[in-house]
Amino acid sequence: MSKVWFTNLRTSPSAGLTDKMERVCRRAGIEKIDFRNQFVAIKTHFGEPGNLAFIRPNYAARMVELIRSLGGRPFLSDSNTLYSGRRSNAVDHLQSAMENGFNPISAKCNVIIADGLKGTEVREVAIDGEFCKAPKIGSAIVDADIVVSMNHFKGHEQSGFGGALKNLGMGSASRAGKLELHSGSQPKVVRDNCIGCNICVRHCAHGAIALDAGRKAVIDYALCVGCGQCVALCQWDAAVLDKWDTSENLNCKIAEYTKAVLLGKPHFHVSFIMNVSPECDCWNHNDAAIVPDLGIAASFDPVALDQACADLVTAAPVLGGSKLAEKYEECASCCAHDSGHHWSREFHGLHVHGPRGEGVDKFRLIHPDTDWQSGLAHAEKIGLGEREYELEKV
Ligand code: SF4
Ligand code: SF4
Repeated sequence: MSKVWFTNLRTSPSAGLTDKMERVCRRAGIEKIDFRNQFVAIKTHFGEPGNLAFIRPNYAARMVELIRSLGGRPFLSDSNTLYSGRRSNAVDHLQSAMENGFNPISAKCNVIIADGLKGTEVREVAIDGEFCKAPKIGSAIVDADIVVSMNHFKGHEQSGFGGALKNLGMGSASRAGKLELHSGSQPKVVRDNCIGCNICVRHCAHGAIALDAGRKAVIDYALCVGCGQCVALCQWDAAVLDKWDTSENLNCKIAEYTKAVLLGKPHFHVSFIMNVSPECDCWNHNDAAIVPDLGIAASFDPVALDQACADLVTAAPVLGGSKLAEKYEECASCCAHDSGHHWSREFHGLHVHGPRGEGVDKFRLIHPDTDWQSGLAHAEKIGLGEREYELEKV
């Protein structure tokens, strides 16, 4: 059974949040890694400009100081995106990282975009996986001697949630790798729901969606790479994931990519269950958090870490005023009540939960077409870690 260490967000004059992050990492045993003279990729997400839910650079700075104190040579890293935003090439990506505070002053460290200027700096790492034979990873991360992931734990429109595996597997994938991860997950348009607002058309980086004569969106599947941008942007449930198993396959592929990222390297992971927005930090906005800020968790096992974070969010109450609260209120219409408990049937099976949504799988409620459990099960099957864990509070 793997161990996950957790600290809540209570502070004191002698223990601020960055102190607590360092403490939880030390208690988890980060010092057991021999960092001396090793290149250490700190894999994180710099946040799309406009999004404010990403991890503060202050935490990265503290991790950099810790790794340097242990003799390592850290750098901050991420790979380019497929999206049409401001992180799809190294020039824009670096500028975005600097603007968001991931610069040598605030984060005390340099940034290296892992797959280079145009996403062509790639290494194929042979793992002979069930879904991906040789994941295409950004070369700076493959060339690093040690990988430390700093993960913002939040919802994700395609994978259910984004945690350690998503940050590592999807985030380290080169643009070609991201194409492989997304292929097979092309969305569809529900014509009756489409109001012809044109937002998806303007934001599709591949020119794959257009309005037809009836002002309904139509996807050209010869061009669509399944990046999911239109699904995330459509406010009318018109651009939606096509198949139930799409999220399952994506999560399994992410697990295999994570295996490739960590193959043969010492690694360590820390997740921040704060600003738990319903969607990914890849979007240029962050909707209201769906649960309260919970804490910081760390582990050598990224699977156990994701499972523990998911369990903590499941156990938390729903935050009023959030997108999740709206879904949860809909859920109330199908719930039976007794002694302060609710029995919900429609949204999450016959399931007992607390009066404020404690015990509800928040990610399945908010993104009903996603299936995060299958990804963790596959990750366990391929030897990436264990879903069973012991949580030790620090
Ligand atoms: S964003 Fe949605 S509603 Fe708007 S045009 Fe695209 S599919 Fe239709
Ligand atoms: S149609 Fe949608 S999923 Fe396909 S490439 Fe365009 S934005 Fe991405």
